[in-house]
Amino acid sequence: MPMNYQQILNEIYEEIQPELLRGKVADYIPALAEVEKGQFAMTVTLADGTVYSVGDSKKAFSIQSISKVFTFTLALDIYSKELYKRVGVEPSGNPFNSLVQLEYENGIPRNPFINAGAITITDSLISYYKDEYKTLEVIMNFIREISGNPTLSFDQVVANSEMEHGDRNLALARLMKSFGNFENDVLGSVMTYFKHCAITMNTEELSRSMLFLAFGGTDPISGKVFVSTRKAKRINAVMLTCGHYDASGEFAFHVGLPAKSGVGGGIAAVVPGVMSIAVWSPALNKYGNSHSGTLALEKFTTKTGLSIF
Ligand code: GLU
Repeated sequence: MPMNYQQILNEIYEEIQPELLRGKVADYIPALAEVEKGQFAMTVTLADGTVYSVGDSKKAFSIQSISKVFTFTLALDIYSKELYKRVGVEPSGNPFNSLVQLEYENGIPRNPFINAGAITITDSLISYYKDEYKTLEVIMNFIREISGNPTLSFDQVVANSEMEHGDRNLALARLMKSFGNFENDVLGSVMTYFKHCAITMNTEELSRSMLFLAFGGTDPISGKVFVSTRKAKRINAVMLTCGHYDASGEFAFHVGLPAKSGVGGGIAAVVPGVMSIAVWSPALNKYGNSHSGTLALEKFTTKTGLSIF
């Protein structure tokens, strides 16, 4: 009998209620500190485009670090393995904005999902497109296409708020520049990074946008190839090993899916060959990952038996 995903999501929604106020919204970006706790949404998208949702699935939130999956996809498509000269693919085991590791590893970030790695990726895209505004437009258009929403945008207030408190990210970029691993203007590149982090999406759009990664780089609905199967495999592998900062091991252990979280409380995940999933709940655990979002995904893989293991 086919699984009743709507019923499973409804059950999760009920069970998650007592958890929703646990954790803390990200307050190091003041504009995000204003987001109300207690909100929750979850969406599943199948290969034929069937969508199942619960909660506030039409409510847009700041995707933050989840945008790093999309910029990594674009950069890997352009540079292939040349990219790995500038950024590694090992879990960092350190907080997402750590400077220490970057110093003793000579300005080469551990992976594309910690801040230093994602800022390098954005810098590499600016080198390719020769201009930060053009680069942002390419990133936005890519995400508009894969999400199916041609009007997606970013929140300028959130991007400005990050820049006002962006000393650590600017420091990461300058440190990489001192090691020769940064090519463009630091301020402009970091601002472009903040802008793509400030993109707002709801869980229906986010889930839709991850579908190509669940199906080997090809969107199963339109048939469009966004990246090769080999590259999609690598992106999923990096999501599995590095997608949740220094809690990536724990997430793999409890949930068992390639996924990427963001400090806006979103998590996007793929079940290869089956579906993509997005969940959002703004209160974060101590690692900066959505507390209830993580639990909801754990419940989902437990109830459905779907995981890569
Ligand atoms: N824009 C955020 C930062 O640079 C992204 C962090 C995150 O979502 O993990 O701090």
